[in-house]
Amino acid sequence: MQTPTLLIIYTGGTIGMVKDPVSGALQPYPFEDIYKLMPVLRNFDYTLHSVSFDPLIDSSNVTTSFWIKLAGVIEDSYEKYDGFVVLHGTDTMAYSASMLSFMLENLNKPVIFTGSQLPMGVIRTDGRDNFINAIEIAAARVNGRPMVPEVAIYFENKLMRGNRTNKYNAENFNAFLSGNYPPLAEVGVHIRYNTEMILKPDALPLKVHKELDNSVLILKLFPGIAGVVVKNALNIEGLKGVILETYGAGNAPTDAWFIDALTQAIGKGIIIYNVTQCKGGAVDMGKYETSVKLSQIGVVGGYDITTESAIAKMMYLLGQGYSGDELKRLLQTPLRGELTL
Ligand code: ASP
Repeated sequence: MQTPTLLIIYTGGTIGMVKDPVSGALQPYPFEDIYKLMPVLRNFDYTLHSVSFDPLIDSSNVTTSFWIKLAGVIEDSYEKYDGFVVLHGTDTMAYSASMLSFMLENLNKPVIFTGSQLPMGVIRTDGRDNFINAIEIAAARVNGRPMVPEVAIYFENKLMRGNRTNKYNAENFNAFLSGNYPPLAEVGVHIRYNTEMILKPDALPLKVHKELDNSVLILKLFPGIAGVVVKNALNIEGLKGVILETYGAGNAPTDAWFIDALTQAIGKGIIIYNVTQCKGGAVDMGKYETSVKLSQIGVVGGYDITTESAIAKMMYLLGQGYSGDELKRLLQTPLRGELTL
């Protein structure tokens, strides 16, 4: 059998930084030369090709055009490669992995995001292990098929479904959390795949969706939030979808001004998607009195979806032209394993 051929897509972020030998400053490394940077990669029985974004970006600068470009690179090289490793800054990796999971419909090959907290060029880097394990996972096969045919994040010994993650620590090597879904694999002496939890997609041709609509907003509740803020936010011209980050199991103030503001927005066709601020657990509208009203006025419950995944899903579905009841139905349907009913 042929050995796996992988494409490494370097988009930027800390992982690719090395120290300039003269100035000592950190700067992006030209990844065309990955074997020079990491000669150990030659020990893999895989063929590795790489492509670098120009410009390389700090992931705080990710935009919808960045996602379209990334999805395009995967689309253009999909047939040629057995899997993809995306090197990406950690700050918005959970958003990008969520978005790519929606854009790449019928994905049958691994797209493994990874990055690091310390640059590759620093002795104590976590980038080296993350990168090597991500490569091995992207190349893994079972019965002639990819072991992980989905968009995932590999970080610090764990492989997680991308659209279930959030970055929760700015310093620890263990920077990502998948609060509502078990790891797809755990890495120690062996890589132990949690095969039951990995998607088993039908063998259909890849469909890449590049239309995204960012007429959206995340509104995070906090005690003391001013009526004028909520009302103005919901009156933004052209607004189509709101991720309402509520408390606990989907609870929100019962004040008349708040419910009226939401009711008016819903009346204008704006979809309000209720997502919990908690990093684990689900929205359950109607469990407490403080969410009964939300349910009555037509707020859409997001179950256990993350905020990152919810905003990506909203932009993706609006981009496909969905609105009204069909949009609400799809928001409550797991499309890529992003929520549990
Ligand atoms: N600011 C960087 C980024 O997200 C941090 C990192 O790479 O971890 O691009």
